[in-house]
Amino acid sequence: MRAGTKKQSKSLAVLQIVLPSPLRHHFDYLPAPGLSINNYQIGQRVEAPFGRRKMIGLVIGHQNNSAIKPEALKAVSTPLDPEPLLKNHEIEFLQWIAHYYQHSVGDTIFSLIPAFFSKSLTKHPYTEDFWSITTHGQGLPADALKRAPKQQQLLKLLRENEMDISNKRIKAQGFSSTVVRELANKELISASQKHCHPIDNQYLRKGSGTQSALVLSSEQSQSLTPTLDALAHNAKFHVNLIHGITGSGKTEVYLQATKRALEQEKQVLVLVPEISLTPQTLKRFTLRLNCNIAISHSGLNDKERAAAWLAMRSGEADIMLGTRSAVATPMAKPGLIIVDEEHDNSYKQQEGLRYSARDAAISRANKLNIPVILGSATPSLESLQNAQSGKYHLSSLQSRNTGGKLANIEITDTRKLALSGGLSEQAINIIGQTLAHKKQALVFINRRGYAPQLLCHDCGWYYSCPHCDAKLTYHKQRHSLRCHHCSFSCKPSNRCQRCQSTQVQTVGEGTEQCEETLSRLFTGTPLIRVDRDTVSTNTLLHEALDKIHQHPSAIIVGTQMLAKGHHFPNLETVVMLNVDSGLYGTDFRSIEKTLQLLTQVTGRAGRASQNGRVLIQTHLPDHPQLLTWHKHGYGEAALELLRERQLRGLPPFGFLASIGADGKQPNSAQQFLVQARQQFAHMREQLSLDPQQIEIIGPFPALMERRAGRHRAHLLLKAAERKVLQRCLQQTVPLIDQLPKKSDLRWQIDVDPQSTI
Ligand code: ADP
Ligand code: ZN
Ligand code: ZN
Repeated sequence: MRAGTKKQSKSLAVLQIVLPSPLRHHFDYLPAPGLSINNYQIGQRVEAPFGRRKMIGLVIGHQNNSAIKPEALKAVSTPLDPEPLLKNHEIEFLQWIAHYYQHSVGDTIFSLIPAFFSKSLTKHPYTEDFWSITTHGQGLPADALKRAPKQQQLLKLLRENEMDISNKRIKAQGFSSTVVRELANKELISASQKHCHPIDNQYLRKGSGTQSALVLSSEQSQSLTPTLDALAHNAKFHVNLIHGITGSGKTEVYLQATKRALEQEKQVLVLVPEISLTPQTLKRFTLRLNCNIAISHSGLNDKERAAAWLAMRSGEADIMLGTRSAVATPMAKPGLIIVDEEHDNSYKQQEGLRYSARDAAISRANKLNIPVILGSATPSLESLQNAQSGKYHLSSLQSRNTGGKLANIEITDTRKLALSGGLSEQAINIIGQTLAHKKQALVFINRRGYAPQLLCHDCGWYYSCPHCDAKLTYHKQRHSLRCHHCSFSCKPSNRCQRCQSTQVQTVGEGTEQCEETLSRLFTGTPLIRVDRDTVSTNTLLHEALDKIHQHPSAIIVGTQMLAKGHHFPNLETVVMLNVDSGLYGTDFRSIEKTLQLLTQVTGRAGRASQNGRVLIQTHLPDHPQLLTWHKHGYGEAALELLRERQLRGLPPFGFLASIGADGKQPNSAQQFLVQARQQFAHMREQLSLDPQQIEIIGPFPALMERRAGRHRAHLLLKAAERKVLQRCLQQTVPLIDQLPKKSDLRWQIDVDPQSTI
């Protein structure tokens, strides 16, 4: 049923349907028997036979002819939605995402609308039938239906009740569905569908608006003004990048901008990274704003996410506070989009549809002609460059309103120092001082487990994963060796498997070892470890956070799970271990990411006190960007990195797409990418582009060539202009789709990748 090829049979009206399938094209279908294509509106869903299955698809167009033979065409169901689920401009936005990220339109649409809509035929996830008596029923004498006493009773109940009664309540009063159906068949009662919000619902909160706005500092007012101006012009596209240190009051600015949009009876979409969607953020919005707030994140079930989405679409909700995929939520009255922590990695989806929610948010605001606020303590180089070039307005918040100062940061050269559990003597001392002040210290180490390596001291053999090019991490509490890249684990033996020596030792340290050392050094002090082993679910995370708040004096050992979004008022000291690997810069973004992490984690210290202290342990104390960061802060270091990117033609000065492939055989990914390379090279010639306009790099093996038993390689395209890259991809990707390949080979495109290794 593939559409869009050569021979066209005349005047056979068909529907263009997209399905949640990786196939990039749409499909032609006939309307259901007895209906014409005019009975289907663009944006309605239908059920469509596909192979042996039935799938839910979306109507995206009508067409008067089809390349498919009429007898091969199948019919869809009647429309599943009484009115289109998506409006034309919303479909266009989703199509834009699909085209830009080189993904199938159907898959894009169905992965960005709540999963509920690709499974369920119900119109609203919380719809219930409510029954009322018809005029015919009213007219019936009270003693009618004598032979059906249950029916008589129900009719009496509905007659005496002024309101409609829900199906649930009718059932609860002992009436069976048969009784209800019989009365309905006689047209004595009729049903209407109503939304019933579950009590205690997770997806829609009523804001109280009881807390009044704070008086803004002059920095804050200055950063709010451009957005208010854009709103005053009855909404116009404008991007306001707020670069504000942690605790400088960005959220206060978001709240006041949101309030203004609400006063204009507009809706606001607030995007937050997954981990930041703490009750704290939500609480501030509900206390400040008297409105309905829809919530969407991965902790909710399908029904809840769908209901939040619908509440925004209908205008019942005024604000959507959500993570990545909330970017495509339909809005009845769009007014403003806010992207908090805009630099955060979690905005870029790393599998399937590899889109950036931040970039999509900007594109959406542009199409809707409304303002955007991007906020971060560590803006991405992309956004800073857009501010430099004048595309975005840059607002800066450099002081804290709470009186707390940014912590004093020291860098310790750990070369040649004796360390215990990874900690230098100085680190141990300042942790001790912090505890003496009855405050908290955070030891940050971005590596879970006890030690990243178990090595034979006699022959150099170490445990590695049989499925990945990776060392196994030793987990002491579970007494197991685990691969952090696949699910492999095994028990360690006390002899070397190569030379039988008993000198098998751990090398390096992880959170578990750090915790062990600290508990030995500071016996009796509450110690809270937060990593993916101790805190594997949202509930456990909240429990750990509660525990941190309950112990004003404690040691916290944590990975980057703790880096963002959480406020610890009693945290005085931060010690950061092992940041060196990020500074080596294997990937073009690693230094940027490391400096962001350093800034975010160090920003946690001393938010509410004068004694904030940060100690960074490193073997690279002379690292140039680390020094700039230390002396002049993130902004300066970022400018330095930007100059370097410019010299190398890397983002944001160049545009990348990475084509990744993986297969079970050692060379299949490489071989496939060699063919892909030829297609790109050929297209480059056809489009009369020269290698300076678009460079084809690779294929080269991935940094971890083998992962989970699959061999991986990449091909990289690097273009000087975005539109050249896009043109080349649009033309070539369909050809790559056609390339012969082994059945187990998988490949994918990542446009504007986070990483290229
Ligand atoms: P950020 O979002 O930049 O981390 P917040 O908005 O959370 O910063 O503000 C940090 C703290 O400062 C909060 O406790 C907040 O209530 C307080 N605050 C922010 N703006 C003001 C202000 N104008 N006056 C007084 N306190 C403020
Ligand atoms: Zn050995
Ligand atoms: Zn592995």
